Amino acid sequence: MTTQVTAGTVAGMTGPLGHGGTIGILGGGQLGRMSAMAAARLGYRCHVFAPDADSPGMQVAAAATVAPFEDAAALARFAAAVDVVTFEFENVPAGTLAILAPLAPCRPGVEVLRICQDRLLEKDFLARAGVPVAPWRAVHDEADLAGAIAAIGLPAVLKTTRLGYDGRGQAVLRRPEDAAPAFARLSPRPLILEAFVPFAAEISAIVARGTDGAVAVYDAVENQHRDHILDLSFAPARLSATTAAAARRHAAALAESLDLVGVLALELFVLPDGSLLGNEIAPRPHNSGHWTMDACAASQFEQHVRAVAGLPLASAERHHDAVMRNLVGPAGLELWPSLLKTQGIIPHWYGKAEARPGRKLGHANRLLPLGSLRALDDAAALQGL
Ligand code: AMP
Repeated sequence: MTTQVTAGTVAGMTGPLGHGGTIGILGGGQLGRMSAMAAARLGYRCHVFAPDADSPGMQVAAAATVAPFEDAAALARFAAAVDVVTFEFENVPAGTLAILAPLAPCRPGVEVLRICQDRLLEKDFLARAGVPVAPWRAVHDEADLAGAIAAIGLPAVLKTTRLGYDGRGQAVLRRPEDAAPAFARLSPRPLILEAFVPFAAEISAIVARGTDGAVAVYDAVENQHRDHILDLSFAPARLSATTAAAARRHAAALAESLDLVGVLALELFVLPDGSLLGNEIAPRPHNSGHWTMDACAASQFEQHVRAVAGLPLASAERHHDAVMRNLVGPAGLELWPSLLKTQGIIPHWYGKAEARPGRKLGHANRLLPLGSLRALDDAAALQGL
């Protein structure tokens, strides 16, 4: 039960990108790197645009532009040199998108990024697409915050609405006196106050949607974090069949509602009764989908490239259960030699110049026979990782 294909068409898209065509990738991180590697296997070139030289993406790309995202002339040259533009992170400045959008097809579209860059628009969109969310209020000033606390109660989570990732830009409010210091610390404003969700687990579901409107949904996975950074993903998530199906259905509904061309990850909270609340949408390949590189016939990166290039999507079927461990600096660097020596572990390294604390340096996938993960406790599932 892994692939779902729906009919339908997406307006304004032309035919598939031919062999040797060039995909422009905005951003030079590991997600662009792994997308470029998948693109190469399908006969495409990638041109990475990023501010930093020798970025992980540039190391494997056919062409690179090193320039700030605000450099209009460099962006125009980039758009002229590529057939289609995609993004490996969603916080691309609005000005960059305004320059690129008239010059080259952007997949996913600029509107998708606009929604996913702003937690207020995103929450509203989730609810309208039928994905339940925890109660929330927009917070522009301290009066709003007092009103939001009165409406939602404590504990609650105060977050920035823009530029937050890996738990940055948020504070848990447990007592009324936590409110003022958190409000003073967090920027840019407005902020959002969300009810604290007493979740039993965090999961994500990844979906690809093609130019023809076909949708392929991967099995939902369970995610565990350390220091607010994804540490482990268990594929499939150890959920009831009903909850797992609901997660995949929500992801597919979002892709449809957003008119997505590309890949998105929907992060969800699982409540103790098995019901789901949507947290966040990432309109790109996602860290919690790295297991698909080894446990599925087509990875999330291949699906992303297929979608962006206008090719038919592949099956999202899983042929193994899997556990993914993120290799985060500096501990991830220390783990690397033993991972290389362990049979059954598939290592991936991103080529970053420095192993700074908190940086994602690589990941490793452990494959397990299909259907075996559910019976294992965490220690057994993690053997060798
Ligand atoms: P986010 O940046 O929204 O993905 O949040 C980062 C992490 O903070 C999540 O993965 C959760 O572990 C935790 N978190 C975020 N929002 C809430 C919430 N409303 N209730 C409880 N925990 C949350």
